[in-house]
Amino acid sequence: MKKSFAVIGLGRFGGSICRTLTDEGMEVLGIDENEERVNEFAMIASHAVVGDSTDENVLKSLGIRNFDHVIVAIGDDIQASILTTLILKELGVGRVTAKAQNDYHEKVLRKIGADHVVHPERDMGRRIAHNMASSNVVDYLELSDEHSIVEIVANGKLSGRTIMDMDIRKKYGLNIVAIKRGEEIIVSPQAKETLYENDVLIVIGNDTDIDRFEKKVL
Ligand code: ADP
Repeated sequence: MKKSFAVIGLGRFGGSICRTLTDEGMEVLGIDENEERVNEFAMIASHAVVGDSTDENVLKSLGIRNFDHVIVAIGDDIQASILTTLILKELGVGRVTAKAQNDYHEKVLRKIGADHVVHPERDMGRRIAHNMASSNVVDYLELSDEHSIVEIVANGKLSGRTIMDMDIRKKYGLNIVAIKRGEEIIVSPQAKETLYENDVLIVIGNDTDIDRFEKKVL
C-alpha cells in the first residue's frame, strides 16, 4: 500500500529521506521555508511547498493531519523543530519522527510526544566507532540504549563447534538469529548447527553481554 509522508526541512538529512521515500514509490510532500530548497525538490518529491512549519495555519492548510507519517528534519533551529513537533501532535498527526541535535533536544522531543526520535550523527558515529574498535564486528545496529544486533565474523576458535556446545544463550544471554555462510543464510539456526571460520553470526542481545562474548570467545 502506498503510504503518504511529509518531510519538513529539506537539508541534507530531510533531503535524503525525501529522495529515498520517493524512490521507494511513496507519496512525499516536502516542506521548507527556503524557496531554493523547495525548487530543488520540486522534481523529486510528489509535491514540494514553501512554508514555515512553526505556523499552525500553514500546516493545517496543507492537510498535514491526513499524512501517515511526518518527519521533522529541521537542522540547527532547535526551537523551530520543537514547536513544529508540538503543533503536529496537537493537530493529531498519527506518527511523527523528529531529528534531534543533542540529548537535551531528544528529551524534549520525546516529552512533547514525538513518536520516534532519531539522532543520526550520534548513531552513525557510534556505529562506525564500534566497527572500527573490533575487528570481528562487521556491522552494528543499535536497538535501544542497551541492546544491539551485531554481525560478528567467527574465527578459527569457533570453527567446528555447535551453537549448543558454546551455550551462548545460557553463558552470555545472547541469541544467534542468523548465520551468513558465503551466499547462504541460515535463519534461526538450530542448536546443533556447526559453525565454521568466516561464518558471519548475527547476534542479538545486551551490549555488555555482546562485549563479553567478543572478548572471551573471539
Ligand atoms: P541538515 O543538517 O540536515 O542539512 P539543515 O539545517 O541544513 O539540516 O536543514 C534544515 C532545513 O530545514 C533547511 O533547509 C531550513 O530551511 C529548513 N527549516 C528550518 N526551519 C524551518 C521552518 N520553521 N519551516 C520550514 N523549514 C524550516
